[in-house]
Amino acid sequence: MAHVGTCRLCSAPLAPDTALAVGDVPPCNRFSDGPDAPRLPLAMVECAQCQLVQLLQLPPLDALVPRHAWIRYNEPSAHLPDVAQHVRALMPDAPGVLGLGPFEGPLLQHMTEWGGARHTPDLAAQSAAQPGRYPYLETWQHVLRHDVLASCGKADLVTCRYLLEHSHDPVAMLQALAGALKPGGVLLVEVPDSSKFLTVCDYSFIWEEHVCYFTEATLRALAARAGLAVRQCLRYPGTQEDALVLLLQAGAPGQAAPSGLGPSALFARYRAAWPGQRTHYQQWLGDMHAQGRRVAIFGAGHQAIMFIHALGLAQLVDIVLDDAPDKAGCRIPGTAIPIVPSSVLQAQDDIGLCLLALSAGAQQSVRARFDGWLQQGGVMQSIYPEPGHAVD
Ligand SMILES: [Zn+2]
Repeated sequence: MAHVGTCRLCSAPLAPDTALAVGDVPPCNRFSDGPDAPRLPLAMVECAQCQLVQLLQLPPLDALVPRHAWIRYNEPSAHLPDVAQHVRALMPDAPGVLGLGPFEGPLLQHMTEWGGARHTPDLAAQSAAQPGRYPYLETWQHVLRHDVLASCGKADLVTCRYLLEHSHDPVAMLQALAGALKPGGVLLVEVPDSSKFLTVCDYSFIWEEHVCYFTEATLRALAARAGLAVRQCLRYPGTQEDALVLLLQAGAPGQAAPSGLGPSALFARYRAAWPGQRTHYQQWLGDMHAQGRRVAIFGAGHQAIMFIHALGLAQLVDIVLDDAPDKAGCRIPGTAIPIVPSSVLQAQDDIGLCLLALSAGAQQSVRARFDGWLQQGGVMQSIYPEPGHAVD
């Protein structure tokens, strides 16, 4: 039984009876295991004191370590020139930069002409991995500690993008990152803002690797708890999630976390709408089968996998389309659903519904590419609810 912990922001006990308990789900990166994948209890809870939405139980690290060398994730980058300009305005004197996260390269590229030294150690690769294990974000978050970072030196600017939400101890991670700053230095952290997917009741965004689901308010509270002052908070809108970039400085007195805020309407609604969403999708996909039509999902990323498990669709989705060569021949973790090339959609004439687990841009391309299939009555719909989507 996994340990039910205390809040990662304010240390208050978490209340299991207020959690959204999704059930036992396989790690989304276990593509080789199919139906035999191990399962972890997954539940999301909001702290009744500080309103940080987080996982109720921390998954064991080894369960999360990829079994494939090719497991890699993409993060947004179109906003990075603007981020670099904001940093430059704060630090006009060619700062030395230490990139301590896994997604620093694209940001530091926009700082090349500044002239200062730049260093991006691969901290996950430095950990001693067992055979058949390929450490990635779960390991990286674990090694961002004072003792490990002591060997990385100090810099004027320390950056860490898209890792704080993976951290099992985010206050300590922020303090360790700030410990790598020279006096007066700036710490840049970037995380996804969870407000939008919580608002539209999108359950594909739950992920065993994301421990914390920050909003701007809880992210600011976390920084304050870690003794960091917010110099700037930048927001870059995304379709399902905005990117939040905080520029922080050390030296602020550590502040107590907010307490007594009580449950938020946002999370209460998210939790309450889950059974209805499960029923809606199970009925819709069941009706398709009753009509002799099969159901496909386009895209085999972790959001498609969580969509299938969180909504109880493992027996109702027939195939998942994905052209990534690494995933060819694999099954969706924890299920018998095969991952097949996208050309199957047109080659087999009994598929009636194709749910899209793709970015907005990729959805447009797919709709254009399969226009003939749509003309013949095929139905495509995004798994992501539309912004402004009304929940029953
Ligand atoms: Zn809390």
